[in-house]
Amino acid sequence: MAAHQEKKTSEERKHKSTQNGTRASQVQWGRAWEVDWFSLASILFLLMFAPLIVYYFIMCCDQYQCSLTDPLTDLLTGKKHLSDIWNKTPTLTYRAVGIYTLWVTLQVVLYMFIPDFCHKFLPGYVGGVQEGAVTPAGVVNKYEINGLQAWIITHALWFANAYYFHWFSPTIIFDNWIPLLWCANILGYAVSTFAMIKGYFFPTNAKDCKFTGNFFYDYMMGIEFNPRIGKWFDFKLFFNGRPGIVAWTLINLSYAAKQQELYGHVTNSMILVNVLQGIYVLDFFWNEAWYLKTIDICHDHFGWYLGWGDCVWLPYLYTLQGLYLVYHPVQLGIAHAAGILMLGLMGYYIFRTTNHQKDLFRRTNGNCKIWGKKPEYIECSYMSVDGTKYHSKLMTSGFWGWARHFNYTGDLMGSLAYCLACGFEHILPYFYIVYMTILLTHRCVRDEHRCFSKYGKDWSRYTAAVPYRLIPGVF
Ligand code: NDP
Repeated sequence: MAAHQEKKTSEERKHKSTQNGTRASQVQWGRAWEVDWFSLASILFLLMFAPLIVYYFIMCCDQYQCSLTDPLTDLLTGKKHLSDIWNKTPTLTYRAVGIYTLWVTLQVVLYMFIPDFCHKFLPGYVGGVQEGAVTPAGVVNKYEINGLQAWIITHALWFANAYYFHWFSPTIIFDNWIPLLWCANILGYAVSTFAMIKGYFFPTNAKDCKFTGNFFYDYMMGIEFNPRIGKWFDFKLFFNGRPGIVAWTLINLSYAAKQQELYGHVTNSMILVNVLQGIYVLDFFWNEAWYLKTIDICHDHFGWYLGWGDCVWLPYLYTLQGLYLVYHPVQLGIAHAAGILMLGLMGYYIFRTTNHQKDLFRRTNGNCKIWGKKPEYIECSYMSVDGTKYHSKLMTSGFWGWARHFNYTGDLMGSLAYCLACGFEHILPYFYIVYMTILLTHRCVRDEHRCFSKYGKDWSRYTAAVPYRLIPGVF
């Protein structure tokens, strides 16, 4: 009887939505991309060149004092051959393999075997078992949120070693940076390839797989939505947060230690980079439960883009400012340093407040106050693959009324602050702001494409109400 009733309700829902004429497009949300020639060309470009780009940046620092142009000049004028550069590049070492294996193992242990205790004593912190968003197949996954704890334990061990045990030098990461790059690449490719094979042969949830028919696209953008091993080892949550983002602040600390070793002091620019990026990383872990509702977890499938990106691209290229400052110990004037600090903190404030406003709005289903007033919103609906209809709301108040992605704007301000801390002598530290601008602008387009597929006409009503994406009145 209950089953019959459920079936009837489902039929009614389907019927209603088909009448609206939106079903065909809505059930595709989250995976509606067709592999056009531009997507394919971009993917092939990234698969071929992204590892080389990472190598090039790190090599430039190692061999050319972080100049991006000198290696090219040397090659073009015949002063050096590719083989000269390659022969000077440190190779994979047993030491690096040992360090990397220990590092990843520690993070797996912290992720899998130590349930969160931070939420028991930190007021306002959301940790422990939490639910993710509804997937396109209508599944709601559970996650053990213990990233803050993993970050605290890892950093406590780091400082305990640096100031008490002295098992290894705090410059260990800098000193093995290129050999570790090979290890990170091995893990990045291994996990992406494993995820692809798993998607074909033993997916965690077959209904949440996406097969476009294009091998390269599937390898890059992923087949499985939420691949897991066992009940709790979630690939997306682990790889993005743990080897990547926990490492970020440790890498910066290692750079600061190297400055201390080389010059006898740590510059204010290095301190600024450590502090501003440290706030960003801590914010990420403090809000890890919120992260379950962001695009990486809610919409992206797990492929090379996330697997290799989290292992290699993120730890190597997001930390370029600190690396640069080891080679160029910039000491900023007080006004310059204060200006950068202000820009970084203001960016962080906008980034966090915007994200918080959406989170609060969604958690309370609009029953909250944004800037002291009841929020305004647009009612919308969408369907999962099984035809179940869901309702949602798009807020048009607060920063979400200023622009559709004002959180990205705050993020970009913070990113610019890290770069400006490095002065104006070289362009290498500015890679980050260029990259983040491309990433977040592309993300706007991707997200809006997906939201349009999901919400249809309701999304158009929203874009009419909030016409700008990043900068009100401009873009
Ligand atoms: P958002 O947190 O902005 O999430 C976008 C989703 O929010 C949309 O798909 C939609 O999802 C929902 N949404 C959109 N508009 C509204 C609205 N008006 N009201 C309510 N819900 C809305 O994007 P991201 O997940 O990309 O980013 C999260 C944060 O992470 C950002 O601050 C970003 O800057 C940062 N980030 C940092 C990166 C880095 O490398 N440093 C990389 C990527 C992101 P739904 O389907 O639920 O409606």
